[in-house]
Amino acid sequence: MYDIVGAEGYADTPFTKIADGARQFQQEIVLDATWSTRPNGYLHALHEIGHALGLKHPFEGETLLNPDEDNTNNTVMSYTDTAVTYTLKTYDIIALQSIYGPAKARLGNNSYKFGNDEIIWDGGGADTITAAHLREKIVLDLAGGAHNYIRKKSASILDPDQIWLGHFTQIENAIGGSGNDAISGNEINNSTRGGKGNDRINGRDGNDTLRGETGADTLVGGSGADRLFGGKDPSKDVFVFRAADELGTPDRHDAVFDFTKLDRLDFRAFDADLTAAGQQKLDFIGSFKTDRAWQEAGTAYYNTRTDMLVFETDGDGIADHWLTVKGVSTLKDAYFIL
Ligand SMILES: [Zn+2]
Repeated sequence: MYDIVGAEGYADTPFTKIADGARQFQQEIVLDATWSTRPNGYLHALHEIGHALGLKHPFEGETLLNPDEDNTNNTVMSYTDTAVTYTLKTYDIIALQSIYGPAKARLGNNSYKFGNDEIIWDGGGADTITAAHLREKIVLDLAGGAHNYIRKKSASILDPDQIWLGHFTQIENAIGGSGNDAISGNEINNSTRGGKGNDRINGRDGNDTLRGETGADTLVGGSGADRLFGGKDPSKDVFVFRAADELGTPDRHDAVFDFTKLDRLDFRAFDADLTAAGQQKLDFIGSFKTDRAWQEAGTAYYNTRTDMLVFETDGDGIADHWLTVKGVSTLKDAYFIL
């Protein structure tokens, strides 16, 4: 802090090039001795700290903020002072967490009401985002850095009903509302409930538990050994399987627990014979009481004793993948979408 002529403060950004062309991670923040008594002095101190942590001005460089949003209500890195509070703003938090991850706070098992906050971020624990209070359609993606929303996606995350999920924030559980929701998991093990409505749930990576609950739901387990529940109501749920290696391993594979005659197993995206070029359709050859000694490539049969669909995908005649389907005594052609 000293008497700066012609400026209130300045700061180096990380990885500043030094004379010999090397880069150093060393920042210096310089503030004029009178900074704290100047108008918005605390805001400008945050601005210089922002530079030192790697943030640039929103009106300079290749990526520019919409001029309508370039003010200190949205980011302390703006030169347009409109802020009434001297805190980091939405864009500052999003930008800093995209570099450093979330703060080491909110470490317990937290629950977040979808729509309450512009940004949901979390430092650890087993956490839940719930939209159970909402009747509108929601799009809730648990991937870090996802732009989520209620009803309609806006161009700007600052608009009403837009919810940003912080980069590197890991949320374990999601609960939908009573609309027709789209819910996606992240790379860890997720537990997801659709609630009412015709929901589409995508587990992505990890060993996920997906529950469609009420309504005609579409469940996509993704990779890992996933547990799929369409819901007990008399509606048509669709279970989607896109690739053999998404079914899991012989010891730990996907399972559908409440299959009914109304439900469908969708293998349209599935390549059933990896030895042939292109995507080969799955051939369901029927239900049997015992395992078959030899199986043709590209086929699956249902073992009614073990409740398992058994797949042969690599052409050696020996089963490669399994899918448990419980709820019906046999599987029929009509239950498949191939
Ligand atoms: Zn600046």
